[in-house]
Amino acid sequence: MKTLEFYRNLPEKECRECGSEIKEQHESYLYECEHCMGKHEA
Ligand SMILES: [Zn+2]
Repeated sequence: MKTLEFYRNLPEKECRECGSEIKEQHESYLYECEHCMGKHEA
């Protein structure tokens, strides 16, 4: 049961900017896809 709660508490990995799915390789604290992060970095 604890495992189910753990997965339910995970935030959806979607870019907050464009809504694109964020690749699992990104760190959990990132909320933007590579494309949108590139715009900020530039
Ligand atoms: Zn994006």
